[in-house]
Amino acid sequence: MPKFKQTSEILRLMRKKENIRNVGIIAHIDHGKTTMTDSLLAEAGLLSPKIAGEARALDYLEEEQKRGITIKTANISLLHEIGNKSYVVNLVDTPGHVDFTGKVARALRAVDGAVVVVDAVEGVMAQTETVTRQALEERVKPVLFINKVDRLIKELKLTSSRIQTKLECIIKDFNSLVEVYGEPEFKDLFKVDPQKETVALGSALHKWGFTLKIAQEKGIKFTDLIEAYKSGGYKSLEKLIPLHEAILEMVAKNLPNPIDAQKYRLQKIWKGKVNSEIGKAMLNCDDYGPTVMCITMSQMDPQSGLTATGRLFSGSVKEEEQLYLVNAGETYKVHRVFMYMGALKEIVDEIAAGNIAALLGLENARTGETLVGASFRDVMVPFERIKYFSEPVLTIVVEPKTPRELPRLIEAMNKLCIEDPNIAATVNMETGEYLLSGIGELHLEIAVKFLKDLTGEMEISTSKPMVVYREGVSEKGALTMAGSPDKQNMLWVQAEPLEEKTLDFLDKAEILKTEIEKVGKLLFKKAGLPIEEAENVLALDEHKNLMVDLTRKLDFTAVKEMIVEGFKWACRSGPLCEEPLRGVKLKIMDAQIHENPAFRGPVQIVPLARRATLSAVLKAKPVILEPIYKIGVTSPSQLIGKCIDIIIKRRGKIVSSVQKGVLTLVNAYLPVAETFNLSDEMRSATSGRTFWQCTFDHWEKIPESLAAEAIRQIRGMKGLPKEKPPLGKFME
Ligand code: GDP
Repeated sequence: MPKFKQTSEILRLMRKKENIRNVGIIAHIDHGKTTMTDSLLAEAGLLSPKIAGEARALDYLEEEQKRGITIKTANISLLHEIGNKSYVVNLVDTPGHVDFTGKVARALRAVDGAVVVVDAVEGVMAQTETVTRQALEERVKPVLFINKVDRLIKELKLTSSRIQTKLECIIKDFNSLVEVYGEPEFKDLFKVDPQKETVALGSALHKWGFTLKIAQEKGIKFTDLIEAYKSGGYKSLEKLIPLHEAILEMVAKNLPNPIDAQKYRLQKIWKGKVNSEIGKAMLNCDDYGPTVMCITMSQMDPQSGLTATGRLFSGSVKEEEQLYLVNAGETYKVHRVFMYMGALKEIVDEIAAGNIAALLGLENARTGETLVGASFRDVMVPFERIKYFSEPVLTIVVEPKTPRELPRLIEAMNKLCIEDPNIAATVNMETGEYLLSGIGELHLEIAVKFLKDLTGEMEISTSKPMVVYREGVSEKGALTMAGSPDKQNMLWVQAEPLEEKTLDFLDKAEILKTEIEKVGKLLFKKAGLPIEEAENVLALDEHKNLMVDLTRKLDFTAVKEMIVEGFKWACRSGPLCEEPLRGVKLKIMDAQIHENPAFRGPVQIVPLARRATLSAVLKAKPVILEPIYKIGVTSPSQLIGKCIDIIIKRRGKIVSSVQKGVLTLVNAYLPVAETFNLSDEMRSATSGRTFWQCTFDHWEKIPESLAAEAIRQIRGMKGLPKEKPPLGKFME
């Protein structure tokens, strides 16, 4: 029977930090994260809001289930009692996909422990490796739940000894991940062991599960499970060995509370000074210290605005408090403070350190943002200073099966973009197609799954993923002259590749879009741009193309904005195959601008600047740039040769190979265009014993021998004429 408590009682509990557990649930796609969490939500004790009697409490529970609230839509706080001790278990939703840029890492930052869900049939898979590795990097302690054990019995019909062997193999695989990726001083602590109650197994679908201790206490053996499925009596397992008890007991007993965890995690996740006022407060998880919070989820609600949810590392967050958003550089007043009750939110006056809080009123608080009490704005070091460098490199076309559902799909896509900053949604103006760009095949697959969930299982059709390319220039081009449509205005321009150092700087720096003012001349100089150019930067676009004005002409100032607009237009769609330009420096050497404003309006100047840019690019030996992944492969040493063969066959370049125990780790570069069906090939070549992860690394010129064909293919895919346009098209 679920247990209920009054809000006031729960708030008291939330101050007893030794009874709090902040936990993430992480898994490879389809291994059962959602099913398991839903089952916890439905069965475990709820933190139920202001409800007097049990009857009403049950209504509430039913209502919650009817509305289909699941882990996908909320963080969840649960109550679990062991003996007469009550634990508050805050489940933080970690994004359900390999987000190669640190979003999972940031969500993991908010928790101290993680339940890693692994499918008993599939075992440890690529994404299990990725998320476990990220958890270890954040010093988040894992426990293991081996799910879908019913499949071993029903589908594979394994005997009890074969089930045992299979499970042991998964535990061994998992521990070898901890061995490879764990920090030396934490490895032993973080390895899982059934004897230590850090492994549970069961079936989330049928809602049963147990740890070794529970099995011993209740006298359960594998033969009993097999019998239960044979006789069709498996439903009784749900009562006998309920899943939520196994999981929550494992979490409460074996994962750390925030006071213990913050002591050893802080130095790993925050680079500020630990002996500063803020540092000490976080180290001690101090309710009376400065408010410091890390946002793990931002959700947009049309009625109430943005809700930002995250982990409070120190202080108590209150209504009306002024908080500074370190990354956004803005201060906001907290309108409301909520705590999670089950999956619903309950307004409270304040929440104490070490817990998860949801705040209303911080309009620009995005996932990953660091919040601090406004009076500490100048001394706060954010949790993660450097933004990971990543770009969406694959695109798919999405379409509802029923056209009239399009508005709902668009609404869901907008929501997805807010919640996942690495997804880009665009409309192809010519075809009217809706395009979704993401970081990898799996990322897009899960984005579509998310869209389906958001739209109540709308039928969505998708195209095959297409690689996103860039266009660049490979040498300093000749001076080019271009005229406006009425020939009254002229520009003399020259394109060349942006200095490597500057490009590298722009890639790494957290410069968004076109805010040159923020970047400043000084920074451009520091970034390797010649002084005269640094002083005269006119525009920087989001794909790192730079325009400098070397004309020193007054009349030019009058048309500056129109020139910038035309330049950016050109940068969005290059001359070879209409992919965005990247790393192009366009120098305006001279200009002849009509003195009469009537002859130098946007109709004249914007297309002029566009043409000038495109023709200058065509004269600077334009090239196609393709995205390159860095791929890290971990494989049993005897199989690594096969993996290397696959990578090389796909135009990959091996960077390093290191043996660690029985495993070998290989790092390589691999063109994104060569990664389709990589999973299938790797899996069948190594019987699924290899894990790997791809991270976007850089853009690289397509080999000369493949360039012409690539251009033809991209143009074909876009419905453009097969041959690239002649230079003359951009000049008159
Ligand atoms: P997620 O992607 O990790 O959130 O996975 P889901 O919870 O959505 O589960 C993926 C699929 O596996 C769904 O079809 C579930 O019904 C199924 N599934 C989840 N848990 C179990 C289990 O214990 N046994 C079986 N047979 N299927 C399961």
